[in-house]
Amino acid sequence: LSFRDFPLGTKIWQAVEEAGYTKPTPIQAAAIPPILAGRDLIGIAQTGTGKTAAFTLPILAKLCPEGNIPARSGTRALILAPTRELAAQIEENVRAYGKHLPLRMATVFGGVGGRPQVAALRSGVDLVVACPGRLLDLLEQGYGNLSRLEFLVFDEADRMLDMGFLPSIRKIMKWILRKRQTLLFSATCSAEIEALAQEFLISPEVIEI
Ligand code: AMP
Repeated sequence: LSFRDFPLGTKIWQAVEEAGYTKPTPIQAAAIPPILAGRDLIGIAQTGTGKTAAFTLPILAKLCPEGNIPARSGTRALILAPTRELAAQIEENVRAYGKHLPLRMATVFGGVGGRPQVAALRSGVDLVVACPGRLLDLLEQGYGNLSRLEFLVFDEADRMLDMGFLPSIRKIMKWILRKRQTLLFSATCSAEIEALAQEFLISPEVIEI
């Protein structure tokens, strides 16, 4: 099995090869087809399994059919992550896999001045990686526009719940349309994770690695 077996497009295949990946990991092989097909998905997988590429590659492919992004369509993809470190890591991955795409992105997290993040949001971005607390602050101040969001990812959802982000997540969801594709990744499956999925996903495919 090769990445070229999935219809990700030349620019993404090229970026993946430049990252030095020769074949998809098990979570990538299992998750990429249903995500490309438009399904909601729950992925139970630890860090280190290649889960970031498992959701990033098909989302980038769907954002950029033919390798292009439709001009000025507003934020179309949001990836929520528990910590600044994880958000920065996801950003680095998205930039690597999207290096040949005309993608505009912003990363939003607390603990640093908000002004550059506000400037990035105001300039109009296709994809946002964010920690829930800071994103909610900025939305409540009137920055960012999620009204046309098409793809939503909860990464390390178990840690976001452990850190008490559920109330912020619920408030963020009020800015987001029901009609979207939602992906949830978690290292563990618990009653809380199932309740979160029940609340925000529709008939998800479940993959456990
Ligand atoms: P993650 O589980 O997303 O944190 O990824 C763990 C590490 O595996 C990261 O350093 C990725 O760059 C790397 N990686 C992801 N997918 C592949 C792949 N298909 N082949 C080789 N390395 C990969």
